[in-house]
Amino acid sequence: MCPAQPPSDEDFMQLALAQAHAAAEAGEVPVGAVVVRDGQVIATGRNHPIGSHDPTAHAEVVALREAARTLGNYRLDGCTLYVTLEPCAMCSGAMLHARLARVVFGATDPKTGAAGSVLDLFAQPRLNHQTEVRGGVLAEACSEMLRDFFKERRGGNPHPLRDDALRTPDDRFKDLPGYPWAPRYLSDLPALQGLRLHHLDEGPADASLTWLCLHGNPAWSYLYRHMIPVFLGAGDRVVAPDLIGFGRSDKPKKDSAHHFLWHRQVLLELVERLDLRRVVLVVQDWGGLLGLTLPMEAPARYAGLLVMNTTLACGDAPLSPGFLAWREMCASRPDFDVARLFARGNPQMSEAECAAYNAPFPDRGHRAALRAFPPMVPELADDEGAAVSRRARDFWREQWAGRSLMAIGQQDPVLGEPVMRALHAGIRGCPPPLLLPQAGHFVQEHGADIARAAVRHFHPAG
Ligand SMILES: [Zn+2]
Repeated sequence: MCPAQPPSDEDFMQLALAQAHAAAEAGEVPVGAVVVRDGQVIATGRNHPIGSHDPTAHAEVVALREAARTLGNYRLDGCTLYVTLEPCAMCSGAMLHARLARVVFGATDPKTGAAGSVLDLFAQPRLNHQTEVRGGVLAEACSEMLRDFFKERRGGNPHPLRDDALRTPDDRFKDLPGYPWAPRYLSDLPALQGLRLHHLDEGPADASLTWLCLHGNPAWSYLYRHMIPVFLGAGDRVVAPDLIGFGRSDKPKKDSAHHFLWHRQVLLELVERLDLRRVVLVVQDWGGLLGLTLPMEAPARYAGLLVMNTTLACGDAPLSPGFLAWREMCASRPDFDVARLFARGNPQMSEAECAAYNAPFPDRGHRAALRAFPPMVPELADDEGAAVSRRARDFWREQWAGRSLMAIGQQDPVLGEPVMRALHAGIRGCPPPLLLPQAGHFVQEHGADIARAAVRHFHPAG
């Protein structure tokens, strides 16, 4: 700017644009603001409702708060606020409360603008304070930044995020201990309807065995990090998806999006899409509730079953008291700390490993699956998933022709040894189970030994 002239509205809008840019860098919708008094910037603000868990954290509100603190006064007499996007009703209301002298904005907002686009709060003759409004300053630069942001998030992205879903930011999964594998994504399975499914797929496509590792609630593929290297070391392929709502997969906003048969369908389609053959199905918890119903649909694809603490819920026998207690806990404390759940049963785990189980869930909005899954276990004969589970029970008892191995974490209060002994009796040709006296529900946390035993068991001799 020229030193001889006072700074113009355009000059201050450039500073607001810099704030908007910083918002975009943080993954927030790029809107920025500055508050100016007597030709001096006294406060800045950028939009960050997601990062701060704060629906009111619009750039204007953030800047107004800072300006008021700076001045030591909740009235901002004589101040001008510059913002890159036409303010919404909330922000316009806040400006009127602040007795702001002037507001200058860049782009108009046809969806929520309250300075003329949708409504005009600044032109209400019955409000006694009047704030002067000027729009359209650097409008093109301001709207271009917004367009670029949304283009990158939608059009430029091979897996655009559905409006009714959330996606955990990538930086939550940076540098997790013992989990070096590259993420892979699919969003075009028919059942996904555009939701992005994350999975690991490591090892050669033509390997002699493919270990299909299915996790349960509230875990994700991280649970298999001790077993995957053993399988890869044997020259095999490993495929480990994150169920929708978990891990790095997309998370529907509504609890009611989750259904037993829908999750099952996603897994069936994944197996077909990746054309998995000579599969050893590796299951635990929901990985088994869903996964044990898969092989009967394509038995030729499956060579083996490695089953850890899980069950088939057929709706014709009572659910275990341990499971009912877990379901009750989830209902009464829906925001329970996932990391602490792992720490409690696994004193051998480091703090960083436990924290990795919280990574997928930055806030309550991302936790719909955690709320939805416990009540989704079929309990009565007509419940969704009960009939297909009964068919699966018949399959394992009467038709299963592959090899099997069972490992039981004996410390598990939820799906522990009694539940597993009952399941064992119904798996055709299953040898006596491996017993792990130290392991709890999340048996895979002791998985390296199990994986080594499984490699010996499932690989043809020689
Ligand atoms: Zn606003």
